[in-house]
Amino acid sequence: MKRIELSKITVEDGKILYEVRQDSGVELLRQDLAQLFIRLHCAENVKVSLGQVPQSILAVPISLYLLPLTYFYKIELVLPVMDKSLYDNLPEIYAAYSKLYGAFDEEWRGKVTVKTIIETPSLEKSMYDRVVFFSGGVDACSAGINNSGRKTLLVSIPDIEIYAKNEGPLREEKFSMINKFSEVVNSDWVLISNNFNATLFRDNEIGSYLKTQKRLCGPAVDGWLGIKYLANMCCVAPLAYALGIKRLIMGSGFGFIEGKERLNNDGAHPLLTNSISFAGIGFSEQDGSHTRRSTKVRNIIEWCNSRHKKVKLWTCFCDESSQCGVCHKCVRTQLNILATRENPRDWGFAKFDESKFEHLMRSYQYYENDPCWLWDIIDVIDEKIMYPYCNRMLHWLKHIGYKEYFRRAKSQIEWHNRIGKWRNRICKLIGVLQKIFLIQKYPHYLKRIICRLKNA
Ligand SMILES: [Zn+2]
Repeated sequence: MKRIELSKITVEDGKILYEVRQDSGVELLRQDLAQLFIRLHCAENVKVSLGQVPQSILAVPISLYLLPLTYFYKIELVLPVMDKSLYDNLPEIYAAYSKLYGAFDEEWRGKVTVKTIIETPSLEKSMYDRVVFFSGGVDACSAGINNSGRKTLLVSIPDIEIYAKNEGPLREEKFSMINKFSEVVNSDWVLISNNFNATLFRDNEIGSYLKTQKRLCGPAVDGWLGIKYLANMCCVAPLAYALGIKRLIMGSGFGFIEGKERLNNDGAHPLLTNSISFAGIGFSEQDGSHTRRSTKVRNIIEWCNSRHKKVKLWTCFCDESSQCGVCHKCVRTQLNILATRENPRDWGFAKFDESKFEHLMRSYQYYENDPCWLWDIIDVIDEKIMYPYCNRMLHWLKHIGYKEYFRRAKSQIEWHNRIGKWRNRICKLIGVLQKIFLIQKYPHYLKRIICRLKNA
């Protein structure tokens, strides 16, 4: 069996460095020798030293990240060391992923070889008793205010987003956001970066192999990209261990429709968070899993207003220093804010313009695959209330109802897609005609003919 091996783990200048090798011909990693890092930013906020962290904990993030390869490929994953409780949990982790993303076939499996299994002693004393993951979004801010105070350490890991970049305006914004939010909730904070998503796997090839060869079409829609999400979050493991923190808390992204809970089937599913634990550290129940998004937004705003503070609710994926305001996550959150009678400009949407936003909504440009968010927004609009911003549009939306708005927005997007397809076909056809008849050369020949006629 060909091998992928975690061949080196070192700590240097606040960074954990890994080397991962693949045998020639494996072709699952972008390079036969991959150099990876996890870097803690502003670790001086918490006075932590990674040099004291045992190898069995330093190895946790990269081991979890590599592990899913062995679910689908006949390869041997060789790891130098693993924490015993994590090792004992491997079957449970496999079962959870298989249930959500599969079902996987045991026949597909490679194997994991761990050279040394260690019962890592856990540290008992800590200044903090929990990590709260902070991305700036509604679920994270809600988890932040529900766990405010000096016992919470806020941790931001921007690289868990698929298209995250290590520098640029959005990264700067993420630093500034967690810094400001930590002041609002009176907690300390650390930002962690890594290059796992950016450099390790040949994601396109693996993703298409799982779709076409393994025919994975489970309830989780984000496939290979989602499978690695929690492993990437576990970059917090060495930091949490060094500080003696036992509980990892993430905000739940559950939706509701007509009052009923709807699980978000993706890489953050509670089945998965429940399955991962090591050296006494594990995920707690997801924060706010029974709270509607509209209620979370209202709670955040009321909480901040009562303390005369403001926070940015950052939901956008665009790599800018301000949010686009028009993508589905931006629109969803601005509607949530409007329904609390607040101005989105005061809560992180610098580009909010009342008349443009009304126009966007009335022309059915807000579309999401799952209508649960729309149901939630429209359900909390109160017909008896006069809203200070976008009042007429909100009442119009209430009158239309979520089913009808969803239907019209969906047919509009289908129509746009159809037009887009025809446009592409016509462009292709013009390209072919240009090649066949050399249409682009006609002006040249016309000029030559006219010149000759003039000179005659
Ligand atoms: Zn946006």
